[in-house]
Amino acid sequence: ATLLEFRNVFKKYGRDTTALSDVSFSVEAGAFVSVIGPSGAGKSTLLRCINRMVDASRGEIVFDGINTQSLKKRDLRKLRTKIGMIFQHYNLVNRLSVIENVLHGRLGYKSTIAGVLGLYKEEEKRQAFELLSVLGLEEQVYKRCDQLSGGQKQRVGIARALIQNPKMLLCDEPIASLDPNASKVIMEHLKDISSTMGITVLINLHQVEVALKYSDQVIGLNGGRVVYDGSPEHITHQE
Ligand code: ADP
Ligand code: ADP
Repeated sequence: ATLLEFRNVFKKYGRDTTALSDVSFSVEAGAFVSVIGPSGAGKSTLLRCINRMVDASRGEIVFDGINTQSLKKRDLRKLRTKIGMIFQHYNLVNRLSVIENVLHGRLGYKSTIAGVLGLYKEEEKRQAFELLSVLGLEEQVYKRCDQLSGGQKQRVGIARALIQNPKMLLCDEPIASLDPNASKVIMEHLKDISSTMGITVLINLHQVEVALKYSDQVIGLNGGRVVYDGSPEHITHQE
């Protein structure tokens, strides 16, 4: 089944910058999809249109049967719990512990201070510990995030996104700040998340070879336009 569809989507920033131009594509539920292209191609804008962090200027984006363009502000939170996001710079609260950062994701955007573990339900804590263990962070649970390596921080980011039980994970240049070893660990975890948990993964990458290695579908962007959409095998022959 189709989980996500872009129909003739345009995004302009101000008058002069067209970040997305007539973008159409669709993504199957459970697929591992990468968006590749040079800096400024529109990759990050494309990702951010999906959870309405950025509003498209024209066109339709249908996620899980919902036309997201027509959602009112108050419905966005519900959309965003179905769409986890991880970032190049992790976006963690550095002075808090790993477990607090993960549970903070559960609270979503409207949360206020909840630094005390006692504020969380047992079930939420159990799920947080389990995710951290799957991601190889059982030793780090109570460490402050500013004591972790980049690769560990990104795994905390993944746990924080997964605790909401999302249908899709948006990953905006998740390995751009990591060394090759840490990058591989992150990519393997993301691949696992799609193949064993059935969560659809959409990932922005500037490393073409990484995209080809892991993806079921590759979308090539250039100047805001889709210049390729298909399986990684074909892209190897073309380019
Ligand atoms: P990529 O992720 O492929 O590097 P982006 O989506 O970040 O591409 O950017 C696409 C284009 O839109 C670029 O020309 C960039 O300068 C511009 N752009 C991105 N974000 C903004 C913004 N908030 N305001 C104005 N222009 C932006
Ligand atoms: P926002 O207004 O962006 O929703 P939050 O509600 O997430 O902000 O956070 C409000 C303040 O509480 C911030 O200073 C944040 O660092 C702090 N905070 C958030 N979560 C926790 C937590 N689990 N423990 C302690 N402080 C927290």
